[in-house]
Amino acid sequence: AWAGIEAAPPDPIFGVTSAFRADKDSKKVLLGVGAYRDDAGKPWVLPCVRKAEEMIQSKQYNHEYAVQSGVAEFAKLAAELAFGKDACILQHGLNLTVQSLSGTGALRLAGDFISKFYTHSKVIYVPTPTWAVHNVLFKISGLDLKHYTYYDPKTIGLDFCGMCESIRNMPERAIILFHARAHNPTGIDPSMEQWEEISNLCKERKLFVLFDMAYQGFASGDLDSDAGAVRKFVDDGQQVALCQSFSKNMGLYGERIGACTLIAQSKEEQAKLKSQMNFLIRHMYSNPPLYGARVAMHVMGDPELRCQWLEDIKTMSARIKTARQQLVDGLKKAGSQKDWAHILNQIGMFSFTGLTKEQVLKMTKEHHVYLTMNGRISVASLGSNNVEYVANAMHAVTK
Ligand code: PMP
Repeated sequence: AWAGIEAAPPDPIFGVTSAFRADKDSKKVLLGVGAYRDDAGKPWVLPCVRKAEEMIQSKQYNHEYAVQSGVAEFAKLAAELAFGKDACILQHGLNLTVQSLSGTGALRLAGDFISKFYTHSKVIYVPTPTWAVHNVLFKISGLDLKHYTYYDPKTIGLDFCGMCESIRNMPERAIILFHARAHNPTGIDPSMEQWEEISNLCKERKLFVLFDMAYQGFASGDLDSDAGAVRKFVDDGQQVALCQSFSKNMGLYGERIGACTLIAQSKEEQAKLKSQMNFLIRHMYSNPPLYGARVAMHVMGDPELRCQWLEDIKTMSARIKTARQQLVDGLKKAGSQKDWAHILNQIGMFSFTGLTKEQVLKMTKEHHVYLTMNGRISVASLGSNNVEYVANAMHAVTK
């Protein structure tokens, strides 16, 4: 049946992990996949999550099917987390928020829904560069993928003028994707003033805006400020779509818990969106798993656990900031004369180091340090045990 089949292209991120696993050198370091590690390099279960798990145990829940849209209380809390409890769209019941198979699943729901029901355009614009999955997922959903200017390799910063110019040149009513906070892979975000201008431009072009929010709270340690861009667009009256992930900010990677939101213009329209989304889910995976939703629901909904969560988020974002500083200090100590300030200025899980492909290859071949070809490192994988080694390797390949 499969005689003519060809292998799929290797995954740029998981491919790095496989190469790392195959390396027998004891000094090897993996900076590929974006998953938080403690200072000793170990996965970290958030204390708020541990407490939520105890709570779940004591409640003796059953294992009946969820409805297509998942656990209703979870979805309500997720929407409040993103848009703010008092947001008009929530007060008026205009949002349709469903539980999704984490951020990726939310993107796929949004992609398929837009592709099927958004009649004004089939073109989605994503930033250059963007998370590798964006470049394929939306095509599978049936959309045409195009890119807008985002990153300036000369400044290792945002090319804001280029970005605005790209948006001005988009056809009216096209679809545009933004990373809500902590852009992956660059770690470079527009400022709030720049978001304001971007929002105005999007309104002018009548664009349909899709936000991918995978790092709320994880970036700055503050849940509300990380949602600033999304809330700004909604305040400006834009009918955005939003994909949320709880992988990073609750450390629930493998539980696959996220949410997808669409905004309707009336309650009648919201009901139609809801029925179509349920129909889509019914024929894709029928209904989502319960466990992650229960954990996230208790963490967000229980006042004590929520306080603990805020602390846990601060612990993670502070440790990442420290690791950025340690890396830059290590580079200086190693004797590097280069300007590495961008590593400190970037935000979130990743740093776009500016290493070229050749330098990345050298990092791997000569120093057993594994990172993606675009020079992105997961700062969360740096810790006291390896940061000096990595800094020395980076200096060796860039001097
Ligand atoms: N979007 C972006 C930009 C991401 O970086 C990630 C995580 N790497 C995701 C979405 C979604 O991840 P998940 O499916 O684990 O929630």
